[in-house]
Amino acid sequence: MSNTRDSRSLSPHIALIPSAGMGHLLPFLRITSMLLSRNCTVTLITAESTVSAVESSYISSFLSQHPQVKHVDIQPIQLHSNPTSNDPLFLQFESISRSFQLLSPALSSSSPPLSAIFTHLSMASIITPIAAELGVPSYLVSSTSTKFLCLMAYHPVLIADPDKLGNSSTELTIPGLTPFPISSIPSPFKNPDNIFTRSILVPNARALSKAKGIIVNSFDCFEPETLEAINNGRVLEHSLPPVLPIGPLESYEIKKEKSHYMTWLDNQPEESVVYVNFGGRTTMSNHQIRELSKGLERSGYRFLLVLKCSEVDEEDKDDLKDLVGDSFLERTRNKGMVVKGWVSQQEILEHPSIGAFVNHCGWNSVMEAARRGIPMVAWPQIGDQRVNAEIVKNAGLGIWESKWGLGLQAELVCGEEIEKKIKEVMENEKLREMAKKVGDEARKYTNIGGRSEKVLKELVEFLQK
Ligand code: UDP
Ligand code: UDP
Repeated sequence: MSNTRDSRSLSPHIALIPSAGMGHLLPFLRITSMLLSRNCTVTLITAESTVSAVESSYISSFLSQHPQVKHVDIQPIQLHSNPTSNDPLFLQFESISRSFQLLSPALSSSSPPLSAIFTHLSMASIITPIAAELGVPSYLVSSTSTKFLCLMAYHPVLIADPDKLGNSSTELTIPGLTPFPISSIPSPFKNPDNIFTRSILVPNARALSKAKGIIVNSFDCFEPETLEAINNGRVLEHSLPPVLPIGPLESYEIKKEKSHYMTWLDNQPEESVVYVNFGGRTTMSNHQIRELSKGLERSGYRFLLVLKCSEVDEEDKDDLKDLVGDSFLERTRNKGMVVKGWVSQQEILEHPSIGAFVNHCGWNSVMEAARRGIPMVAWPQIGDQRVNAEIVKNAGLGIWESKWGLGLQAELVCGEEIEKKIKEVMENEKLREMAKKVGDEARKYTNIGGRSEKVLKELVEFLQK
């Protein structure tokens, strides 16, 4: 394709290519909306989801509310060989990665010609070569913390020197950063033969240097040390492109009928409700759910408890009554609401009745809480979540009990301990003040003239040229 853009066509044309999972899709929809409000032309390229009805419904409602977005819908390629994993999202990821390998013709015939391609970090190894072939700059969008991004970027150095992650080490040191406790490093990172490590982490870590920039949903004063170190070449000298913090990402307006839990929140006093949600796909044992409900009830605070019982929405068939018990629902009828399945978290966190957030520290959730200055009880499980939880604690947005586990194999955290943490986050004025300050800073960063807003503005201006 001829990529010489007419100097008079001032609005850049950006193709956005998210990957599988709500935690990856939502930041892309937010960035799309932020680009539209900065007069960009946007093409959104998605693959039909075979596993998550929520994903498909978010894409179609976003498109109907933003008719100016050009949409390319890719049919995922069916995987016929032996499945490499039994994780449905992983398989979905593999099949859409393969279909994206065939994207060149659609991208090269874009009109007006593309100014840039934005794709998720997990697609770096597939999309950066296609972009290079087309002569279009590619930008990677990270949906994790900058500190975890550093860990991924540094991974090729780590596997080349197994001593760094040896059994006797208690800490992992990466130049320029405060050391990581070994317990915060996801186990696949230590195992080069793991399917996730082999097929996603290693190729993508190697492809980071091929991008023109890495867009992160973070802001300087939330991760000051890391952003400073990575952008001054102290983490990996010469091999990383600039990291562009534009967070916390702006939410976009969701037009839909009011949900029953929003009506319930309308009737609760300001900052009185403890909101509990462990993200799109984090599940816990039924025993742990009972202890969690006990903790909430014992704390005496109002609560909105959202439960998911399977990693994929369509399989979620357990009944609420079986999860928390009939009598719990009866006893707490005036104090709390329990919802099973997917809720609109963005709307909930923006509601004035929310006083605290108990969460697994998925990075999108962390940034959504930071935007509103809502104090968190961090209760991480896998992947990047323990690294994120430490950032939450250090930034003053919440508390983290590092001994708590959450997965099906984890040791049970009892109701009394949970009660204590909920009381602490609702009653400790200093903590609440600190979290509010984070929210004030987040607003300063994203308002016109703020640092995050400027980074995005300058990027759009650059792509305009
Ligand atoms: N989310 C939501 N409703 C839910 C669960 C999650 O709207 O019931 C949103 C949440 O606001 C966030 C994203 O889905 O934007 C989940 O991403 P995150 O990084 O927090 O966690 P993940 O689910 O990817 O572990
Ligand atoms: N991760 C991991 N093992 C897994 C899945 C994820 O170590 O089985 C790590 C991985 O490095 C990834 C991070 O956790 O970048 C966040 O996971 P991912 O981006 O897949 O999910 P998200 O939380 O963003 O939805």
